This record gives sequence, structure tokens and C-alpha cells, in this order.
Amino acid sequence: MLFNGKKRELTEHNTILPEHVDVSRLPGVGPGRARVLQQSGIHTAWDLLYYFPRRYLDRSTIVPIRQLTLHAGAVVTVVGSVGNVATVHARRKRIVVTLRDNHASMELVFFQGLSYWQQAFRVGEHIAVSGEVQQYGRKISMVHPDIDRLQDDETLSFINTGGIVPVYPSNAELEKVGLNRHGGFRRLMHDVLQLHVAGLRDWYPSTLLENEGLIPLQQAIRHIHTPPDNEALNLAKERLIFDEFFILSLQLALRKRMQSGTLPGISFAGESPTARDLVHRLPFELTAAQKRVLHEIVGDMRRPQPMNRLLQGDVGSGKTVVALLAMLLAVDNGYQCALMVPTEILAEQHFRTITGLIDDLRVNVRLLLGQQSNTKKQELAASIANGDVHIVIGTHALIQQHVQFHRLGLIVIDEQHRFGVMQRADLRQKNAASDMLIMTATPIPRTLSMTLYGDLDVSLIDELPANRRRVKTAIRFEEDRDRVHDFLREEVAAGNQAYIVFPLISESEKMDLKAATEEYERLHAEVFPDLRLGLLHGRLKAEEKDRIMMAFKNRKIDILVSTTVIEVGVDVPDATVMVIEHAERFGLAQLHQLRGRVGRSDKQAFCILMTAKRLYFAGKARTNEEQKELSDLRRRLDTMYESTDGFHIAEVDMEIRGPGDLWGTQQSGYPLFRIANLLTHGHILTRARDHAFSIIQADPQLRMPEHERIREILGPRIREQIGLSTVS
Ligand code: ADP
Ligand code: MG
Repeated sequence: MLFNGKKRELTEHNTILPEHVDVSRLPGVGPGRARVLQQSGIHTAWDLLYYFPRRYLDRSTIVPIRQLTLHAGAVVTVVGSVGNVATVHARRKRIVVTLRDNHASMELVFFQGLSYWQQAFRVGEHIAVSGEVQQYGRKISMVHPDIDRLQDDETLSFINTGGIVPVYPSNAELEKVGLNRHGGFRRLMHDVLQLHVAGLRDWYPSTLLENEGLIPLQQAIRHIHTPPDNEALNLAKERLIFDEFFILSLQLALRKRMQSGTLPGISFAGESPTARDLVHRLPFELTAAQKRVLHEIVGDMRRPQPMNRLLQGDVGSGKTVVALLAMLLAVDNGYQCALMVPTEILAEQHFRTITGLIDDLRVNVRLLLGQQSNTKKQELAASIANGDVHIVIGTHALIQQHVQFHRLGLIVIDEQHRFGVMQRADLRQKNAASDMLIMTATPIPRTLSMTLYGDLDVSLIDELPANRRRVKTAIRFEEDRDRVHDFLREEVAAGNQAYIVFPLISESEKMDLKAATEEYERLHAEVFPDLRLGLLHGRLKAEEKDRIMMAFKNRKIDILVSTTVIEVGVDVPDATVMVIEHAERFGLAQLHQLRGRVGRSDKQAFCILMTAKRLYFAGKARTNEEQKELSDLRRRLDTMYESTDGFHIAEVDMEIRGPGDLWGTQQSGYPLFRIANLLTHGHILTRARDHAFSIIQADPQLRMPEHERIREILGPRIREQIGLSTVS
């Protein structure tokens, strides 16, 4: 009703912003459709305009079947009609579908979900299939291709006339109400574009569009849905990718400003006799990189704004001593420090390292653990509250409500990737003015760092202490096991120690424990009866873990069998061999961390990745997914073999897993993009980020008239996400 008639339409789009138009008011959307759309998160015309195609069918990328032999091994799209559907009882039961076009035919093969695929096609139906072309002799096939049904003649003629056809993400519910991947959605989009694109208002100052060569928003939205050609499509994508990065960067810029620019912090005096004294007594010279980052940190600490600095440094680069020196500076200034770590083992290790380095009675260092007795906790809480404790080291128990500091000056978080953004914020709550130093041994690709940690200043230790030797890495199979054991024996005989690590195999910790325990017992009884073995796992009591770690560190244990609890941070310089069982089950970041447990002195160290030969040398897999899994597995192990460079390993990891899945980043606030991809669009990110940061610098509250629309669009989001009440 509302949108009937041209005149109405015109007045509507001048006054109503698409974000204010409920889907139920769109033409062709009755209550049924509206409900299903809403269930899919589409509530307004704006949401629909931003419901982008998943991909496009384009005549230039469609290959006639008779030419497929030229594309063997490549991923292509084919359009044809369904001929025969047959169940074939070969070595492995499968469904084989014949697909024909004007000149030739090919086979689509399905191994899984047989009963579904048996029913899935109508003979004569037109479909587009995308997948890898496989050729056996003269036979051409695709295994489990992606399928788009071309239900309407309109779509077909579109393709045949050379148009680019958008394919929308859909699901069973949407299909039920006629919103299938192309036809249904395309018709709905057609109407929405007609009525509401004109209601979109650009948010950039026009100079920005010009300088960046970006197309206007309305054009971008129109062309992402109905691209006249590929060039227009690419321009539309570029603009919308820029937008996503820009919006995120704007939020980061605001958060950064809120954290450091507006609050009063502590202005420490830069002189610290205790730190100076420690530097002189260290058994080693600080590396140039350690000195440089220390300089950056001290610079921040002297400034009256709170520090928010990320210290990145590969495993073994010596971050602990840098953090300690910064903490001593705070202590000499009369402040307290909190060092938060993800595991109790690590807390204890830091406690020992730090108390070992400073025997100065004036610095009171204490350990706070979740498992301590209540009496002890209360006593500790009291000494923290009255200021007797200078440095407190602990796990997330530190964040608990009852821990109140007398004068918290510096917060250090080690192995940041193990914590969420929330925990970081919680600790900050203890004293908003405190300086914060966040450390991570997980090198992350620059693009990811710019989004995840975009609100922080970054320091990088890009150099290992000079005495280090590259860890030698080998890939070994079951049949090599005896030789691996012999090697361990030799190393132990030479006065060294070893780790054998088992992965999380099942979801159940109990089962894994059983596997590790049984293997420990077997090794103990049958393989190394003459050596001293220890078993470490997450289920042990803190004191027990502590006892075992201490025994290992003091060389009372030769070989430590462990679950992944030793993954982060543990430092035992005489351990020279790391054996990783079922290495194929670990992600790259984890493998790199584990390998970082050895090679922490001037001794040559080794990392042995145990895996199954049949997995490593797997032949052709049955489905594309299986194939990908196997080649990813091979690539992970090969990358570990070839490289010890944490940043390179991180880049490969991001390529394999996709940025969203890295290091559980989702739970730590990883931004979800609709169209942008950190892997491939890094250059756009840099540009968008520069603009966003300079806009916030010039106009922190977005009050200038040319930023009005940014404020309008982002206002609610910004307020929600960073609790900023100053933006109105
Ligand atoms: P990470 O950065 O992985 O936390 P650590 O701080 O645990 O590394 O340091 C690893 C080891 O290197 C420790 O045994 C530490 O004492 C030693 N170390 C730190 N800095 C240096 C240096 N400049 N020269 C030699 N050894 C160092
Ligand atoms: Mg460390």
C-alpha cells in the first residue's frame, strides 16, 4: 500500500532512511516472509540492502562441458540440465548424476548423504555446479560440487545474455517462502533497490571519496546486487570493504582515545635504582630489541596518560625480564604491580624467576592462585589492600572482586591471546589510571593485529638473544619410533631433558588424560625403565603440578610426558627435545608455541613431529573437504619443518584457517566482516584505518557537520560497543 504509485515512492525515499523501514512494509513481503526474514536477522530495508550475494554466476566464468578437459584440476562453474540419476554400487556406494549441455555431458558424484542426493534432482532441471574438474580418461566429473538450481527461465536467459547473476545465501526456511538463492531474492532485491537505495546517504566527506577513488554508497549497493559488469562489481566491492574496515577502525580509534587520551594517568619518574641494579646483575646483556621496547614502555609510563601497549615477541625473545624492569620502575615510584598469566604453572614459574632475580627484600613479590586456602587468600588480599605487596603474580583469580589494590600502578598481562577482551577490561577496572602492558608470544599477521589490537600501541621484540640456535625439526612416523626413543636416550645421556606432548584428542579431558596416562605408564615400564619420567596434566592439583615442574626444572626428571598444559611460557633451559605426538592434530600456532619450549639456551634443540604416514602421504581424497583437510595437515607440518619464523608461521596459519578462527580470536572480540577479508584486503585496511584515525584525531566527538552522517550511522553502535556517552 504504502509504496504504490510513483509519487508516493519519491516522497518516501527522501524522508525515510532504509534503517527505519521494517521488512514487513516491503512489497511482496507478507507476514510469512517477514517472519522468516526476521529469523535470519533481516529486520529492515537496510539489512536487506546489506544482504550481499554469496557469489555470482557469470557467463565469462561458465565453461562448456566439452571444454572441461582444458580445466582439469581447476575450480569452474558449469551450467546444464540433469539427465540420469543413478546409484552406483562400486567399491564405495555413490550417487552419479549426469549433467548435459548442448554438446557434451559429465558426471556429478556424491558419496555422502546418498538418500538426500538420490531425491535432490528432477530430470531436465537446470542447475549450475561449481567444483574441481576431475578427469579419468575421457570421463569428466566433479565430486560434491556446489549446486545452484536455476529454477526460473529468467535466470537462465540472464546467464545466456551474459549478465552477472547474484547468488544469495539462503536456507531451507527462506526457500520455503520463495526466497531461493537467486530468483526469489533477486526479485525482492530489485524492489528494495528501486525503493530504498535513494534513501541511503553517504557518510564520507566527499573529498575522501575523491582522494581514495571510491564510488558513492548508492552506486556501490546497487552494483553489489546487480552488477552491470565485472569492473563495476569490483568497484562496488572495494567501496564496501573500505566501509567495513573504516567503521571498525573508527571504533578502535575512539576506544584508543577513550583509554588513553581523556583519562588522567600516572606520570612515573623515569629513574629506577632497583631496575638499574638488576640490569647490572643479569647473567646476560639485554638485546638491542629488548632495550628498544623498554625505552618505549618507559616513555609511556612517564607520560601522564594511561599506557595501553602490546608487547609482541616470539617465544624465547625475553619478554619477562622487560616486564620485570617496567614493574620495578613502578615499584620504585611507590606503586603496586599485577602480573596476570593464563595458567598456574606459568604463574609459579614467573614467581620463581622473578624472586630469583630480585633478592631485594624491599620488593615484596607474592603469588595469588585460585587453589590457595581461604585463610591464605584473605591474608594476601589484606596485604595487597594495605600496600605491603609490591608485585602480585596470579591467574585470572586476580580479577576477582575481593582483590583490591592499595595503589595499582602497572598491570602486565602475559600470553594475552589466552584471555578475552573482557578480562583485560576487568583488570583495568581495578584502577582506570594504571598503565597496562599486554604481552603475547603469538606473532600475528599485521592485518589481524591492526584489527584485534588496533586500539593499542605496539612494541615488537624482533630479535632473539644471540646465543640461540635454530631448533632442528623433523617429521617422523610410527615406524621411526624406536629410533626416536634411541635419540631421546642419547640426549638424556648427554645431560639433557625432553618433553613428550599429547594432544587433546577427544573432547573429553578425561579420555585424553587416560591416553596420556596409559602412554606414560607404557613408556615408563617398557621403553625407558632406566630413566626418570614425570607426568603432567591439567587435572593435577596446583601443588602437584608445581612439584613436578620443579622436579623437571631441577633435573630430577629426564622426560616429562605432558598434555598441552605446558604449551605456553614454560621455561626449562636444559630441555632440548620436544616430541609432539599426533602432531597433525595441532594448529600451527600451538605447534610453534610447543616448539618454543625448547631451544631456550645455547644448546642445540630438536623438535620431532610424530604423525601417521598414511595421513602425511595421503593420496587423492574422496571429497573436496577431505582433500583440503589432508593438504592443510601436510602444509602445517611442512611449514613447521621449513620455518622457525613465528610471523611467517602466523601468516600461513591465517591462510589455512582463515582470520576469524585464529587463536580463538572470536571469543576475544574478533570483528566479523560481511565482505572484507583480512587475508586479501590488507591494503584497503591500511587506508581505511588512516582515514578513521585522522578523523577521530581532528574531531573526537564527531561534531563537525561533515561527520554528521558518520555519527548518525555509528552513534548507537559506538555507544553500545564502547560505552561512550560523549558521542551524541
Ligand atoms: P618469552 O619472551 O618467551 O616469555 P622469556 O622471557 O621466558 O621468553 O625468556 C626466555 C629465556 O631467555 C629465559 O631463560 C631468559 O632468562 C632468557 N633471556 C632473556 N633475555 C635474554 C638475553 N638478552 N640474552 C640471553 N638470554 C636471555
Ligand atoms: Mg613468556
